[in-house]
Amino acid sequence: MEKSGMQDKDAFNREMLEFLQASTTPFHAVAEMSRRLDAAGFSALREADAWELQAGGKYYVQRNQSSLVAFVYGTDELPEKGWRMWGAHTDSPCLKLKPKPDIEKKGYRQWGVQVYGGALLNPWFDRDLSLAGRVHYQTKDGALKQRLIDLQRAVAVIPSLAIHLDREANNARTVNPQTDMPPIVCFSGDNSDLETLLLEYLKAEGAPDAVELIDFELSLYDTQPPAVIGWRNEFIASARLDNLLSCFVGLRGLLATGNKTHAVLVCNDHEEVGSLSAIGAQGPMLKAILQRVVGDHESFERAIHQSLMVSADNAHGVHPNYVDRHDNNHGPLLNAGPVIKINANQRYASTSETNTLFTALCKACDVPVQQFVIRSDMGCGSTIGPITSGALGVRTVDIGVPTFAMHSCRELAGSEDAHGLAKVAAHFFASRELPQI
Ligand SMILES: [Zn+2]
Repeated sequence: MEKSGMQDKDAFNREMLEFLQASTTPFHAVAEMSRRLDAAGFSALREADAWELQAGGKYYVQRNQSSLVAFVYGTDELPEKGWRMWGAHTDSPCLKLKPKPDIEKKGYRQWGVQVYGGALLNPWFDRDLSLAGRVHYQTKDGALKQRLIDLQRAVAVIPSLAIHLDREANNARTVNPQTDMPPIVCFSGDNSDLETLLLEYLKAEGAPDAVELIDFELSLYDTQPPAVIGWRNEFIASARLDNLLSCFVGLRGLLATGNKTHAVLVCNDHEEVGSLSAIGAQGPMLKAILQRVVGDHESFERAIHQSLMVSADNAHGVHPNYVDRHDNNHGPLLNAGPVIKINANQRYASTSETNTLFTALCKACDVPVQQFVIRSDMGCGSTIGPITSGALGVRTVDIGVPTFAMHSCRELAGSEDAHGLAKVAAHFFASRELPQI
């Protein structure tokens, strides 16, 4: 173990790859994080119950099974010391099944899909796709039940059109999500509709009493496992690096924290679609939990103004084939440290003060820092940082590891960066005092 209590890089990356593979939907990501929190002695709280928090206790709360807030109720005086908060999001762009997905064409069974978030669609062609998510069903005796499912085998594919049938494919190919994206699942005919297939699956997988499928939230994912790649193992290739990498980094940091500071990890669903929902960063979840933790309004305000939020979401590394897409002075490199994201128009919440605090945290861990601003002639993305900061009034810095192919179903990060950032997260969560500026 290193000084920070963090594993060495290879062990860390192996565990992150396992987490990425198991977390095929936001539901599964929250289940995986909860499993690790349980194992580390955190207690699950229900929002509908009365809470009795013990100083030094560790807790977590789920909402909709797809957003999670985990926190250490530290022994330090909360209004005096404030929270050390780390935010990330559990959702990633993907293809979600429509409520009535069944399509039959030329003897094939296909599924209609909705595009969730700003997905890059081309990478979804010719992949071995599986299905995962949450299903609700009724049993023989009329009970309503739900469960998370993950088929973990390839059951669908979206074959490309051969170049012979579209000679312009390499020059002018566009993708129509309604007509080009329905995957082929099997041959059609009796018993090939989704309800029959899912009931068959549920019966085989420990729910023999399932008789009717009521509803579901299911999405497709690429079955190719996450991997460390590159001649000298420089890179990590995986689906959902945006933003499960930042969830995992925050989680590892939290698990390495003692019980003195008030450390908070928030992982919200629905970032990729604007964050406005009961469980998104623009909803009331985090504020409601923090208010319950601290008690009265004045204590909340005092604590918030002693706090710092690190909003972690991946950044765009400068791609060697497209260097002109970055400002020449602000092109982050993979394996060169986390990136502070800055935008004069507040698409990111970083300020010179919060950037200074984050840089100091990185320096203390011997982790280099980079800066990103978008080219002045291009529009800027955003994340949960400005939303959370706007809702709570908390000082916030937007940061993230540099990546390529953001919103593809196979993204690329450096194999050093997540581990470096996790050391910073652990140091941050355990910091009883932040530098006074
Ligand atoms: Zn993101």
